[in-house]
Amino acid sequence: MIVEIVTTGTELLLGQIINTNAPYMARRLNEAGFDVLFQSTVGDNRARMAQVLAAALARADIVITTGGLGPTQGDITKEVAAELLGRPMRLHAHSLERIKSFFATRKLTMTDNNIRQAMIPEGALVLDNERGTAPGVVVTTDKNTVVHLPGPPHEMEHMLENAVIPYLRDRFGVQGTIVSKVLRSFGLGESSLEERIKDIIKGQGSNPTIALLARSAEIHIRLTAKGTTQAEAEELIAGLEKKVRERIGEYIFGTNEDTLEAVVGRTLAERRLTLALAESCTGGLITSRITDVPGSSAYLAGAVVCYSSEVKQSAVGVPADILAAHGAVSVETAKALADGIRSRFGTDLGIGVTGIAGPGGAMPGKPVGLVYIAVAGKNGTFCFEHNLTGLRGAIRQRTALAALNHLRHYIAEL
Ligand code: ATP
Ligand code: MG
Repeated sequence: MIVEIVTTGTELLLGQIINTNAPYMARRLNEAGFDVLFQSTVGDNRARMAQVLAAALARADIVITTGGLGPTQGDITKEVAAELLGRPMRLHAHSLERIKSFFATRKLTMTDNNIRQAMIPEGALVLDNERGTAPGVVVTTDKNTVVHLPGPPHEMEHMLENAVIPYLRDRFGVQGTIVSKVLRSFGLGESSLEERIKDIIKGQGSNPTIALLARSAEIHIRLTAKGTTQAEAEELIAGLEKKVRERIGEYIFGTNEDTLEAVVGRTLAERRLTLALAESCTGGLITSRITDVPGSSAYLAGAVVCYSSEVKQSAVGVPADILAAHGAVSVETAKALADGIRSRFGTDLGIGVTGIAGPGGAMPGKPVGLVYIAVAGKNGTFCFEHNLTGLRGAIRQRTALAALNHLRHYIAEL
Protein backbone atom coordinates (compact mmCIF):
# COMPACT_ATOMS: atom_id res chain seq x y z
CA MET A 1 0.00 0.00 0.00
CA ILE A 2 1.54 3.26 -1.14
CA VAL A 3 1.00 6.18 1.16
CA GLU A 4 1.38 9.89 0.48
CA ILE A 5 1.45 12.36 3.33
CA VAL A 6 0.13 15.81 2.48
CA THR A 7 0.77 18.47 5.10
CA THR A 8 -1.16 21.67 4.57
CA GLY A 9 -0.75 25.19 5.88
CA THR A 10 0.77 28.37 4.50
CA GLU A 11 2.77 28.75 7.74
CA LEU A 12 4.71 25.61 6.80
CA LEU A 13 5.70 27.10 3.44
CA LEU A 14 6.74 30.38 5.02
CA GLY A 15 8.96 28.52 7.48
CA GLN A 16 7.05 29.96 10.42
CA ILE A 17 6.38 26.57 11.93
CA ILE A 18 8.46 23.44 11.61
CA ASN A 19 6.76 20.55 9.89
CA THR A 20 6.95 17.92 12.60
CA ASN A 21 3.79 16.11 11.49
CA ALA A 22 5.28 14.65 8.30
CA PRO A 23 8.29 12.88 9.87
CA TYR A 24 6.21 11.66 12.80
CA MET A 25 3.57 10.17 10.52
CA ALA A 26 6.16 8.71 8.17
CA ARG A 27 7.95 6.96 11.01
CA ARG A 28 4.78 5.54 12.55
CA LEU A 29 3.30 4.45 9.22
CA ASN A 30 6.52 2.75 8.14
CA GLU A 31 6.70 0.96 11.46
CA ALA A 32 3.14 -0.16 10.90
CA GLY A 33 4.07 -1.72 7.57
CA PHE A 34 3.02 0.93 5.07
CA ASP A 35 5.29 2.36 2.39
CA VAL A 36 5.36 6.13 2.59
CA LEU A 37 6.66 6.97 -0.88
CA PHE A 38 5.64 10.61 -1.21
CA GLN A 39 5.36 13.63 1.05
CA SER A 40 4.09 16.98 -0.08
CA THR A 41 3.32 20.28 1.53
CA VAL A 42 0.94 22.91 0.22
CA GLY A 43 -0.47 26.20 1.50
CA ASP A 44 -4.08 27.10 2.20
CA ASN A 45 -4.89 27.90 -1.41
CA ARG A 46 -7.73 26.09 -3.19
CA ALA A 47 -6.23 25.74 -6.65
CA ARG A 48 -2.79 24.62 -5.50
CA MET A 49 -4.22 22.31 -2.87
CA ALA A 50 -6.46 20.68 -5.50
CA GLN A 51 -3.42 20.23 -7.73
CA VAL A 52 -1.38 18.55 -4.98
CA LEU A 53 -4.27 16.35 -3.87
CA ALA A 54 -4.99 15.27 -7.45
CA ALA A 55 -1.36 14.26 -7.91
CA ALA A 56 -1.41 12.37 -4.62
CA LEU A 57 -4.62 10.53 -5.51
CA ALA A 58 -3.08 9.48 -8.82
CA ARG A 59 0.12 8.00 -7.39
CA ALA A 60 -0.78 6.75 -3.91
CA ASP A 61 -3.36 4.32 -2.57
CA ILE A 62 -3.68 6.07 0.75
CA VAL A 63 -3.48 9.85 1.06
CA ILE A 64 -3.26 11.27 4.58
CA THR A 65 -3.53 15.02 5.10
CA THR A 66 -2.95 17.13 8.19
CA GLY A 67 -4.13 20.65 8.87
CA GLY A 68 -6.94 22.77 7.59
CA LEU A 69 -9.78 21.17 9.53
CA GLY A 70 -10.25 24.21 11.72
CA PRO A 71 -13.24 26.53 11.88
CA THR A 72 -11.86 29.44 9.87
CA GLN A 73 -12.17 30.30 6.17
CA GLY A 74 -8.51 29.42 5.62
CA ASP A 75 -9.19 25.85 6.70
CA ILE A 76 -10.17 24.19 3.43
CA THR A 77 -8.48 20.79 3.16
CA LYS A 78 -11.59 18.65 3.69
CA GLU A 79 -13.70 20.72 1.28
CA VAL A 80 -11.12 20.79 -1.49
CA ALA A 81 -10.64 17.02 -1.30
CA ALA A 82 -14.39 16.38 -1.19
CA GLU A 83 -14.86 18.46 -4.29
CA LEU A 84 -12.16 16.51 -6.14
CA LEU A 85 -13.77 13.26 -5.08
CA GLY A 86 -17.24 14.51 -6.00
CA ARG A 87 -18.62 14.15 -2.49
CA PRO A 88 -21.12 16.72 -1.23
CA MET A 89 -20.65 17.95 2.36
CA ARG A 90 -23.26 16.93 4.92
CA LEU A 91 -23.78 18.04 8.49
CA HIS A 92 -22.71 15.24 10.83
CA ALA A 93 -25.02 15.39 13.85
CA HIS A 94 -22.82 13.34 16.18
CA SER A 95 -19.79 15.55 15.52
CA LEU A 96 -21.84 18.70 16.01
CA GLU A 97 -22.97 17.38 19.40
CA ARG A 98 -19.37 16.63 20.37
CA ILE A 99 -18.22 20.10 19.33
CA LYS A 100 -21.08 21.69 21.28
CA SER A 101 -20.21 19.77 24.43
CA PHE A 102 -16.50 20.53 23.95
CA PHE A 103 -17.38 24.22 24.25
CA ALA A 104 -19.96 23.71 26.99
CA THR A 105 -17.62 21.80 29.33
CA ARG A 106 -15.01 24.54 28.94
CA LYS A 107 -17.63 27.25 29.42
CA LEU A 108 -16.72 28.79 26.09
CA THR A 109 -19.13 30.21 23.54
CA MET A 110 -19.30 28.32 20.31
CA THR A 111 -19.44 30.44 17.16
CA ASP A 112 -21.21 29.44 13.94
CA ASN A 113 -17.78 28.90 12.38
CA ASN A 114 -17.41 25.76 14.42
CA ILE A 115 -20.39 24.20 12.68
CA ARG A 116 -18.14 23.95 9.60
CA GLN A 117 -16.02 21.43 11.47
CA ALA A 118 -19.02 19.10 11.69
CA MET A 119 -19.51 19.17 7.89
CA ILE A 120 -18.38 15.80 6.58
CA PRO A 121 -18.05 14.46 3.01
CA GLU A 122 -20.93 12.14 2.19
CA GLY A 123 -20.27 8.51 3.05
CA ALA A 124 -17.15 9.27 5.09
CA LEU A 125 -16.09 7.50 8.25
CA VAL A 126 -15.72 9.98 11.10
CA LEU A 127 -12.96 9.73 13.72
CA ASP A 128 -13.73 11.43 17.01
CA ASN A 129 -11.18 13.99 18.15
CA GLU A 130 -10.41 13.26 21.81
CA ARG A 131 -8.14 16.28 22.13
CA GLY A 132 -9.81 19.04 20.14
CA THR A 133 -12.83 19.99 18.10
CA ALA A 134 -12.17 18.98 14.49
CA PRO A 135 -13.07 15.33 13.83
CA GLY A 136 -10.87 13.27 11.53
CA VAL A 137 -12.33 11.89 8.33
CA VAL A 138 -11.76 8.80 6.20
CA VAL A 139 -13.17 8.88 2.65
CA THR A 140 -13.01 5.71 0.58
CA THR A 141 -13.35 5.58 -3.18
CA ASP A 142 -12.79 2.74 -5.66
CA LYS A 143 -9.15 3.70 -5.96
CA ASN A 144 -8.13 5.64 -2.87
CA THR A 145 -8.45 5.97 0.85
CA VAL A 146 -8.23 9.59 1.92
CA VAL A 147 -7.68 10.45 5.57
CA HIS A 148 -7.92 13.98 6.93
CA LEU A 149 -6.35 14.70 10.30
CA PRO A 150 -6.15 17.96 12.27
CA GLY A 151 -2.93 20.03 12.20
CA PRO A 152 -2.09 20.39 15.92
CA PRO A 153 0.43 17.60 16.58
CA HIS A 154 -1.06 16.30 19.84
CA GLU A 155 -4.48 15.94 18.17
CA MET A 156 -3.06 14.34 15.03
CA GLU A 157 -0.79 11.92 16.94
CA HIS A 158 -3.59 10.65 19.15
CA MET A 159 -5.86 9.99 16.16
CA LEU A 160 -3.11 8.41 14.08
CA GLU A 161 -2.10 5.97 16.84
CA ASN A 162 -5.52 5.09 18.14
CA ALA A 163 -7.76 5.24 15.10
CA VAL A 164 -5.98 5.54 11.76
CA ILE A 165 -3.19 2.96 12.02
CA PRO A 166 -5.36 0.22 13.56
CA TYR A 167 -8.06 0.94 10.96
CA LEU A 168 -5.68 0.86 7.98
CA ARG A 169 -3.83 -2.26 9.14
CA ASP A 170 -7.10 -4.06 9.64
CA ARG A 171 -8.59 -2.89 6.38
CA PHE A 172 -5.59 -3.75 4.25
CA GLY A 173 -4.59 -6.86 6.17
CA VAL A 174 -1.11 -5.47 6.80
CA GLN A 175 0.87 -7.73 9.05
CA GLY A 176 4.49 -6.81 8.59
CA THR A 177 6.18 -4.31 10.79
CA ILE A 178 9.37 -2.27 10.65
CA VAL A 179 11.33 -1.68 13.82
CA SER A 180 14.17 0.81 14.18
CA LYS A 181 16.62 1.20 16.99
CA VAL A 182 19.18 3.98 17.31
CA LEU A 183 22.47 3.34 19.10
CA ARG A 184 23.88 6.66 20.28
CA SER A 185 27.64 7.01 20.40
CA PHE A 186 29.98 9.74 21.57
CA GLY A 187 33.71 10.17 21.51
CA LEU A 188 34.62 8.54 18.22
CA GLY A 189 34.64 10.56 14.97
CA GLU A 190 32.44 9.50 12.08
CA SER A 191 35.25 8.12 9.94
CA SER A 192 36.95 6.17 12.75
CA LEU A 193 33.61 4.75 13.76
CA GLU A 194 32.82 3.76 10.20
CA GLU A 195 36.25 2.19 9.86
CA ARG A 196 35.58 -0.10 12.81
CA ILE A 197 32.29 -1.41 11.46
CA LYS A 198 32.96 -1.02 7.75
CA ASP A 199 32.58 -4.72 7.01
CA ILE A 200 29.22 -4.82 8.79
CA ILE A 201 28.00 -1.85 6.78
CA LYS A 202 29.32 -3.17 3.48
CA GLY A 203 28.13 -6.70 4.09
CA GLN A 204 24.59 -5.74 5.04
CA GLY A 205 21.68 -7.25 3.17
CA SER A 206 18.25 -5.73 2.75
CA ASN A 207 17.07 -6.86 6.18
CA PRO A 208 18.21 -5.81 8.74
CA THR A 209 19.93 -2.60 7.63
CA ILE A 210 22.42 -0.28 9.30
CA ALA A 211 23.05 3.44 8.71
CA LEU A 212 25.33 6.04 10.31
CA LEU A 213 24.00 9.52 11.03
CA ALA A 214 26.25 12.28 12.35
CA ARG A 215 24.32 14.45 14.83
CA SER A 216 26.63 17.35 15.80
CA ALA A 217 28.89 15.78 18.41
CA GLU A 218 27.17 12.41 18.49
CA ILE A 219 27.12 9.67 15.89
CA HIS A 220 23.91 7.68 15.68
CA ILE A 221 23.85 4.15 14.34
CA ARG A 222 20.36 3.31 13.12
CA LEU A 223 19.41 -0.33 12.88
CA THR A 224 16.23 -1.19 11.01
CA ALA A 225 14.54 -4.54 10.53
CA LYS A 226 11.36 -5.83 8.91
CA GLY A 227 9.45 -8.75 10.35
CA THR A 228 6.04 -10.31 10.18
CA THR A 229 5.79 -9.64 13.90
CA GLN A 230 7.36 -7.07 16.19
CA ALA A 231 9.26 -9.84 17.98
CA GLU A 232 10.74 -11.17 14.75
CA ALA A 233 11.99 -7.69 13.75
CA GLU A 234 13.38 -7.09 17.24
CA GLU A 235 15.29 -10.35 17.10
CA LEU A 236 16.95 -9.33 13.82
CA ILE A 237 17.92 -6.01 15.37
CA ALA A 238 19.30 -7.69 18.49
CA GLY A 239 21.63 -9.84 16.38
CA LEU A 240 22.99 -6.86 14.49
CA GLU A 241 23.24 -4.75 17.63
CA LYS A 242 25.38 -7.41 19.30
CA LYS A 243 27.85 -7.36 16.41
CA VAL A 244 28.08 -3.56 16.48
CA ARG A 245 28.52 -3.45 20.25
CA GLU A 246 31.36 -5.98 20.10
CA ARG A 247 33.28 -3.43 18.02
CA ILE A 248 32.35 -0.06 19.49
CA GLY A 249 30.41 -0.87 22.66
CA GLU A 250 32.40 1.46 24.90
CA TYR A 251 31.37 4.46 22.78
CA ILE A 252 27.66 3.67 22.86
CA PHE A 253 26.09 5.50 25.76
CA GLY A 254 22.42 4.89 25.09
CA THR A 255 19.67 4.03 22.65
CA ASN A 256 16.77 5.81 20.93
CA GLU A 257 15.83 8.93 22.94
CA ASP A 258 18.55 8.59 25.60
CA THR A 259 20.70 11.68 26.17
CA LEU A 260 24.11 11.59 27.85
CA GLU A 261 22.81 13.60 30.79
CA ALA A 262 19.85 11.26 31.24
CA VAL A 263 22.02 8.14 31.06
CA VAL A 264 24.57 9.54 33.51
CA GLY A 265 21.77 10.77 35.78
CA ARG A 266 20.12 7.36 35.81
CA THR A 267 23.37 5.69 36.88
CA LEU A 268 24.09 8.28 39.57
CA ALA A 269 20.58 7.82 40.97
CA GLU A 270 20.78 4.00 40.90
CA ARG A 271 24.14 3.97 42.60
CA ARG A 272 23.17 6.72 45.05
CA LEU A 273 26.14 8.89 44.09
CA THR A 274 26.20 12.66 44.41
CA LEU A 275 27.87 15.22 42.17
CA ALA A 276 29.14 18.81 42.26
CA LEU A 277 30.67 20.87 39.46
CA ALA A 278 33.08 23.77 39.11
CA GLU A 279 32.61 25.18 35.62
CA SER A 280 34.81 27.82 34.09
CA CYS A 281 34.68 27.94 30.28
CA THR A 282 31.32 26.12 30.08
CA GLY A 283 29.68 28.75 32.30
CA GLY A 284 27.08 26.36 33.71
CA LEU A 285 26.25 24.49 30.50
CA ILE A 286 27.00 21.08 32.01
CA THR A 287 24.90 21.83 35.06
CA SER A 288 22.12 23.10 32.82
CA ARG A 289 22.10 19.81 30.91
CA ILE A 290 22.14 17.80 34.12
CA THR A 291 19.19 19.76 35.50
CA ASP A 292 17.26 19.26 32.23
CA VAL A 293 16.65 15.76 33.52
CA PRO A 294 13.68 15.43 35.88
CA GLY A 295 14.72 14.06 39.26
CA SER A 296 18.29 15.40 39.03
CA SER A 297 18.00 16.79 42.57
CA ALA A 298 18.58 13.19 43.73
CA TYR A 299 22.23 13.37 42.70
CA LEU A 300 23.21 16.95 41.90
CA ALA A 301 24.35 18.90 44.97
CA GLY A 302 25.21 22.09 43.10
CA ALA A 303 27.72 23.91 40.98
CA VAL A 304 29.88 27.01 40.90
CA VAL A 305 30.52 29.01 37.76
CA CYS A 306 34.02 30.23 38.51
CA TYR A 307 35.24 32.50 35.76
CA SER A 308 37.78 34.67 37.58
CA SER A 309 40.86 33.41 39.39
CA GLU A 310 39.53 35.05 42.59
CA VAL A 311 36.35 32.98 42.48
CA LYS A 312 38.27 29.83 41.62
CA GLN A 313 40.14 30.43 44.87
CA SER A 314 37.42 31.81 47.11
CA ALA A 315 34.44 29.70 46.04
CA VAL A 316 36.12 26.45 45.03
CA GLY A 317 39.36 26.56 47.03
CA VAL A 318 41.87 26.32 44.20
CA PRO A 319 45.25 27.12 45.79
CA ALA A 320 46.73 30.44 44.66
CA ASP A 321 50.12 28.86 43.99
CA ILE A 322 48.60 26.35 41.53
CA LEU A 323 47.01 29.19 39.55
CA ALA A 324 50.26 31.18 39.69
CA ALA A 325 52.46 28.28 38.65
CA HIS A 326 50.32 26.66 35.95
CA GLY A 327 47.69 29.21 34.91
CA ALA A 328 43.92 28.96 34.93
CA VAL A 329 43.88 26.67 31.90
CA SER A 330 45.95 23.71 33.04
CA VAL A 331 45.76 20.13 34.19
CA GLU A 332 46.57 21.21 37.74
CA THR A 333 43.83 23.84 37.91
CA ALA A 334 41.22 21.48 36.44
CA LYS A 335 42.11 18.85 39.05
CA ALA A 336 42.06 21.43 41.84
CA LEU A 337 38.60 22.57 40.66
CA ALA A 338 37.28 19.00 40.73
CA ASP A 339 38.86 18.22 44.11
CA GLY A 340 37.88 21.58 45.59
CA ILE A 341 34.22 21.45 44.63
CA ARG A 342 33.97 17.81 45.72
CA SER A 343 35.31 18.57 49.18
CA ARG A 344 33.45 21.88 49.63
CA PHE A 345 30.11 20.36 48.63
CA GLY A 346 30.82 17.02 50.31
CA THR A 347 29.86 14.93 47.27
CA ASP A 348 31.01 11.54 45.96
CA LEU A 349 32.10 13.07 42.66
CA GLY A 350 33.43 16.42 41.51
CA ILE A 351 33.92 17.82 38.01
CA GLY A 352 36.24 20.69 37.13
CA VAL A 353 36.33 22.27 33.69
CA THR A 354 38.62 24.97 32.38
CA GLY A 355 39.58 25.91 28.84
CA ILE A 356 39.75 28.52 26.12
CA ALA A 357 36.47 28.74 24.21
CA GLY A 358 37.68 31.54 21.93
CA PRO A 359 37.69 33.42 19.71
CA GLY A 360 40.15 35.43 21.86
CA GLY A 361 42.15 34.33 24.87
CA ALA A 362 44.77 32.13 23.21
CA MET A 363 48.21 32.13 24.83
CA PRO A 364 51.55 30.72 23.73
CA GLY A 365 51.19 26.94 24.01
CA LYS A 366 47.50 27.33 24.88
CA PRO A 367 45.43 27.66 21.70
CA VAL A 368 41.70 28.27 21.39
CA GLY A 369 39.89 24.96 21.91
CA LEU A 370 42.28 23.67 24.57
CA VAL A 371 40.08 22.30 27.35
CA TYR A 372 40.84 20.37 30.54
CA ILE A 373 38.15 18.28 32.16
CA ALA A 374 38.86 16.67 35.54
CA VAL A 375 36.76 14.12 37.39
CA ALA A 376 37.39 13.51 41.09
CA GLY A 377 36.10 10.65 43.21
CA LYS A 378 37.18 7.83 45.44
CA ASN A 379 39.27 6.25 42.67
CA GLY A 380 41.36 9.40 42.36
CA THR A 381 41.33 12.54 40.24
CA PHE A 382 41.78 12.18 36.50
CA CYS A 383 42.20 14.96 33.99
CA PHE A 384 41.55 14.78 30.25
CA GLU A 385 42.93 17.20 27.69
CA HIS A 386 40.87 18.07 24.61
CA ASN A 387 41.92 20.08 21.61
CA LEU A 388 38.65 21.14 20.05
CA THR A 389 38.05 23.07 16.88
CA GLY A 390 35.19 25.24 15.73
CA LEU A 391 33.37 28.29 16.99
CA ARG A 392 32.89 29.24 20.62
CA GLY A 393 29.40 27.75 20.87
CA ALA A 394 30.46 24.40 19.42
CA ILE A 395 33.55 24.21 21.64
CA ARG A 396 31.46 24.86 24.75
CA GLN A 397 28.75 22.37 23.81
CA ARG A 398 31.28 19.70 22.96
CA THR A 399 33.10 20.30 26.22
CA ALA A 400 29.85 19.82 28.12
CA LEU A 401 29.17 16.51 26.37
CA ALA A 402 32.76 15.37 26.82
CA ALA A 403 32.57 16.11 30.55
CA LEU A 404 29.39 14.05 30.86
CA ASN A 405 31.04 11.25 28.92
CA HIS A 406 34.15 11.25 31.13
CA LEU A 407 31.87 11.12 34.15
CA ARG A 408 30.03 8.16 32.60
CA HIS A 409 33.28 6.25 32.20
CA TYR A 410 34.49 7.17 35.69
CA ILE A 411 31.30 5.88 37.31
CA ALA A 412 31.50 2.66 35.31
CA GLU A 413 34.85 1.90 36.97
CA LEU A 414 33.66 2.62 40.52
P1 ATP B 1 -7.08 24.37 14.03
O1 ATP B 1 -8.42 23.84 14.38
O2 ATP B 1 -6.20 24.58 15.25
O3 ATP B 1 -7.10 25.52 13.06
P2 ATP B 1 -6.28 22.76 11.76
O4 ATP B 1 -6.59 21.31 11.60
O5 ATP B 1 -7.04 23.71 10.92
O6 ATP B 1 -6.37 23.11 13.28
P3 ATP B 1 -3.99 24.17 10.94
O7 ATP B 1 -4.82 25.41 11.05
O8 ATP B 1 -3.43 23.83 9.62
O9 ATP B 1 -4.76 22.91 11.47
O10 ATP B 1 -2.80 24.21 11.99
C1 ATP B 1 -3.06 24.51 13.35
C2 ATP B 1 -1.78 24.50 14.12
O11 ATP B 1 -1.29 23.15 14.17
C3 ATP B 1 -0.62 25.27 13.50
O12 ATP B 1 -0.60 26.60 13.87
C4 ATP B 1 0.57 24.53 14.06
O13 ATP B 1 0.82 24.96 15.36
C5 ATP B 1 0.10 23.11 14.08
N1 ATP B 1 0.48 22.41 12.86
C6 ATP B 1 -0.22 22.30 11.72
N2 ATP B 1 0.40 21.55 10.79
C7 ATP B 1 1.56 21.16 11.36
C8 ATP B 1 2.66 20.36 10.92
N3 ATP B 1 2.68 19.81 9.71
N4 ATP B 1 3.67 20.16 11.78
C9 ATP B 1 3.65 20.72 13.01
N5 ATP B 1 2.65 21.47 13.49
C10 ATP B 1 1.61 21.70 12.69
MG1 MG C 1 -6.66 25.96 11.20
